[in-house]
Amino acid sequence: MRLSGKVCIITGAASGIGKAASLLFSKEGATVIACDLSKENLELLVKENPGPGIIDYYILNVTDREAISKMVNDVVEKYGKIDVLVNNAGITRDALLLRMKEEDWDAVINVNLKGVFNMTQAVAPIMLKQGKGSIINTSSIVGVFGNIGQTNYSATKAGVIGMTKTWAKELSRKGAQIRVNAVAPGFIKTPMTEKVSERILTALNEKIPLKRMGEPEEVANLYLFLASDESSYITGQVIGIDGGLVI
Ligand code: NAD
Repeated sequence: MRLSGKVCIITGAASGIGKAASLLFSKEGATVIACDLSKENLELLVKENPGPGIIDYYILNVTDREAISKMVNDVVEKYGKIDVLVNNAGITRDALLLRMKEEDWDAVINVNLKGVFNMTQAVAPIMLKQGKGSIINTSSIVGVFGNIGQTNYSATKAGVIGMTKTWAKELSRKGAQIRVNAVAPGFIKTPMTEKVSERILTALNEKIPLKRMGEPEEVANLYLFLASDESSYITGQVIGIDGGLVI
């Protein structure tokens, strides 16, 4: 098993890509600390656990720094370490620039950008003490290329890339084997993209060399590689997973 004995925190773990990753990580022997907003969805996730790993859950909002600190302390007390942090939680509040409400700007910045900062600032000291760890940040192709109607979202996903490269440099300064990478998915079939109209999806599929959207399990496979020791010499990278959309 590829994650045997590893303690892995995943945010946004109860839906879409995060859920696929939680189930896959458990299959690969990890202890998964699944963090999300809804108790109901987290309980469903635990019920679906294929094992042999454990899925332990926390109802956690990534904007709540106090709750994050409590969760991290609790995890270290219970499991003794944190090997992997997957900053996967994210939201959209799309609107064209001229119509975007300040509250929609703030909401997306708070979850997608500050949430990643909050989680990493709480977990990094543990990884520095261990001298080892892997942090995976979920960016997006729109963080690199922009997208109409996504001023707030693309700003956060570009910001995640900046933080990824900064942390790859900072957290390895004293020889620690802490790797920080970003994943940049294209269009993946999850509740997040369910809102996109059929007409736009058909046009989009035409533009994707592989002629289809991605499955959450395909992104989970990339998370798994970056979480495992198989990627031990990869850090500071932004890895696209988009069916070739950007080429
Ligand atoms: P999703 O909506 O299915 O899942 C996101 C999860 O994050 C939900 O369970 C939600 O409850 C949780 N969440 C939202 N706000 C939270 C908060 N404040 N604290 C904790 N949890 C919170 O979406 P998804 O498509 O699986 O997205 C996962 C990640 O992938 C996101 O960061 C998203 O931006 C990114 N992404 C998705 C796509 C795509 O096409 N689906 C493309 C590029 C990037």
